[in-house]
Amino acid sequence: MTEQARPATDVTEEIRELERIARRLEPDRDGRAGLLGPVAAHADDFLDGLVDAPAFVADKAPARELRDHDVRDAPRGLEEVLEIYRRAVEEPGLKPASGRHVAYIPGGGIYAAALGDFLAAVTNDYAGIRFTGAGAVEMENQLIRWMAELVGYPADAAGNLASGGSIANLIAVVTAREAHDLGPEDVSRAVVYLTEQAHHCVDKALRIAGLGSCRLRYLAMDEGRRMLPEALDRAVEEDRAAGLRPWMVVASAGTTDVGAVDPLAEIGRVARAHGLWYHVDAAYGGFFLLCPEVRHLFRGIGSSDSVVVDPHKGLFLPYGLGAVVVKDRDAMHRAHRYRAAYMQDAVVDGRVVDDPAELSPELSKHFRGLRMWLPLMVHGLAPFRAGLREKLRLTRYFHRKVGQLGFQTGPEPELSVTTYRWVPEHGDADAFNRRLVERIHEDGRVFVSSTTLDGTVWLRLAVLSVRTHLEDVDRVLRVLEETVAGLAEREG
Ligand SMILES: *Cc1c(COP(=O)(O)O)cnc(C)c1O
Repeated sequence: MTEQARPATDVTEEIRELERIARRLEPDRDGRAGLLGPVAAHADDFLDGLVDAPAFVADKAPARELRDHDVRDAPRGLEEVLEIYRRAVEEPGLKPASGRHVAYIPGGGIYAAALGDFLAAVTNDYAGIRFTGAGAVEMENQLIRWMAELVGYPADAAGNLASGGSIANLIAVVTAREAHDLGPEDVSRAVVYLTEQAHHCVDKALRIAGLGSCRLRYLAMDEGRRMLPEALDRAVEEDRAAGLRPWMVVASAGTTDVGAVDPLAEIGRVARAHGLWYHVDAAYGGFFLLCPEVRHLFRGIGSSDSVVVDPHKGLFLPYGLGAVVVKDRDAMHRAHRYRAAYMQDAVVDGRVVDDPAELSPELSKHFRGLRMWLPLMVHGLAPFRAGLREKLRLTRYFHRKVGQLGFQTGPEPELSVTTYRWVPEHGDADAFNRRLVERIHEDGRVFVSSTTLDGTVWLRLAVLSVRTHLEDVDRVLRVLEETVAGLAEREG
């Protein structure tokens, strides 16, 4: 069913008629209030309900309700639309905003960031090119300078606000490729050094960057699953002797799996001695640099060539913001510059190396700076730092308490991820722990995840949601205790 513009006698009448219909997309002040009021109330109800809502709902069926509502010409009422959204999207599955989401790497999502997104979308300011968006670009560059300073880079370092850690890592990989002039003929001899704890997005980034056939050298780790710098040194020597081309080392500053921080300074020394591009993936761990009690773990991070940090993890922002900083601005620019006749007015002095569009794969993009800048400005840094320090302590608290409940525990947590498992008196411990996770997911009050380390199943606790506080960790402990008791009774 299409709405036809009435036949018009002349062209301006026809334009006016189309305008009348199209203008529904531009509500006036009252019209806007009619949209914003119910949406804001819906958001409030959601947030107030989080405390009692399950962290996870296993039944995916309600999501299919969306299929009953096709895109059509006629509008629907906002109340109806919000209700469909609530039932089909908010309710089923994991609630990433919940404080009892302690799986994967949570962040929660702070309200002020949502308002930053709202304003960025309303003004539609463009942060790609300084010529047209001086303030937006300035804001993003200021945030990048702040993060570069945090990792110890000089003031002229470059960077970019990307959609997440995966794309930020991809930008770093492409920059490293160009910086080392890695051509198609070099790829099969090029070697990347990492550990099995490195995030899988690095491997994905290499393949996307046309480097899928380069060699991945997985290095030996210490008992805390940290890269052994001697192993790196030895592997590079051997590869060079074998006629290969050692190219890049990827260290992790907080692995997703267990939260291990590689010895960054020592790796930096080996990287420099061998002329490797040194990349640090600090997507999860980077913002713990704000915490004096763990800062020493990151010693040497500034000796790297590129670093990734995820504000949608460590700054508690909603999904949609990962950042990369690169020490050598020219290398980053070489990898991402462009020329286009239709953009010629934007070129100043033949080079616009300060423009985000010249330092990333994106041209038109969401103005991501505002969702980070607004919360940092209105809250100040103090509550972010306090939140991170709280999460560090909650993780240590859990590690001690879960041990007291009789669980086997992994090493003392370095950051805010820790591992634990139940070893039953009889039967297969791995199968028991898999059932334990399944049971907890069916229950839904809390959401934990598991991993496999050296062939053994472990449960993980990852505390980084802004809403995870002492009572949430106590709730996780209680659910674990109850669920183990229930399973043991059934199987006993
Ligand atoms: C989360 C994470 C990534 C991937 O980042 P996304 O934001 O999920 O794309 C990469 N590396 C590490 C260490 C991570 O924790």
